[in-house]
Amino acid sequence: MNTLLPTTIVGSLPKPIWLSEPEKLWSPWKLHDEELRDGKLDAQSLAAHEQSRAGLDIISDGEQTRQHFVTTFIEHLDGVDFDRRETVRIRDRYDASVPTVVRAVTREKPVFAADAAHLRAATDQPIKWALPGPMTMIDTLYDAHYQSREKLAWEFATILNQEAKDLEAAGVDIIQFDEPAFNVFFDELKDWGVAALERAAEGLSAKTAVHICYGYGIKANTDWKATLGAEWRQYEESFPLLQQSSIDIVSLESHNSRVPVEVIELLRGKTVMLGAIDVASDTIETPEDVATTLRSALPYVDKDKLWTSGNCGMAPLARGVARDKMIALAEGAEILRAELS
Ligand SMILES: [Zn+2]
Repeated sequence: MNTLLPTTIVGSLPKPIWLSEPEKLWSPWKLHDEELRDGKLDAQSLAAHEQSRAGLDIISDGEQTRQHFVTTFIEHLDGVDFDRRETVRIRDRYDASVPTVVRAVTREKPVFAADAAHLRAATDQPIKWALPGPMTMIDTLYDAHYQSREKLAWEFATILNQEAKDLEAAGVDIIQFDEPAFNVFFDELKDWGVAALERAAEGLSAKTAVHICYGYGIKANTDWKATLGAEWRQYEESFPLLQQSSIDIVSLESHNSRVPVEVIELLRGKTVMLGAIDVASDTIETPEDVATTLRSALPYVDKDKLWTSGNCGMAPLARGVARDKMIALAEGAEILRAELS
């Protein structure tokens, strides 16, 4: 793999048309039982192959075995009743019908370890696996048991730590926690959010990452972004805390966003995974677009600590669009690599 400017994706990729309906979040599976199990793993192998062919350095599962990045993990835990639903406001942005925590949450067995072992066998390149972060998990549930967002987050942090250790044992090199909620709930972020994240990542020898973004390119998110003003300074809340934390890598949104690039100075010393692909647009970036975004970050991050990815997951995009964007990412990083070496 390239040690300078390694490239990867944030997490999700579109699924093949035979597995679920394309260009849709929470798209239902088209297969069932054994066929579904085989289909998901075949899709994961394809996703690994496409990333590798595109020239990416670190391979993800493309979230091919999950319907949604938060709920699929929660579905495998005990203590959450998916038939008992309440409407809550998610990320303070849109209402959704969510399952209810009815008793203590526990993980009876590993959720993704077998999928990760399958990905490990599908490539010789380093692999990265994303899990939802504790704060983002509690924001997707109604809690009728703990009656405390903080207490539930700590329970999830413990469970995530068990899961992360199983993923590490399955050969995962980088474990990423997705915490878009860090861009919304600043008081909780400071009170316990970063501490809960560190608990989830405790004792791992795999590298740890946190992904904080402005969300998929869906309408609720683009409407919200339109209210955020000329400069998006939300990262100024989390970055100083993360700079002091045990987390190795911070993944953020940059390309086509209104995030002032100098905010990454707040992470100095950490590895920065800079979003150089817009996942809210079907327009394919040119390699030079990607190189320009990466170049703009160089005053604020040591070049050996700059990684790159998309701004967020690519699940809602058309498959060909996602593929071409991955190729642009790899080619763009190569332009800057040539300049720097
Ligand atoms: Zn994201």
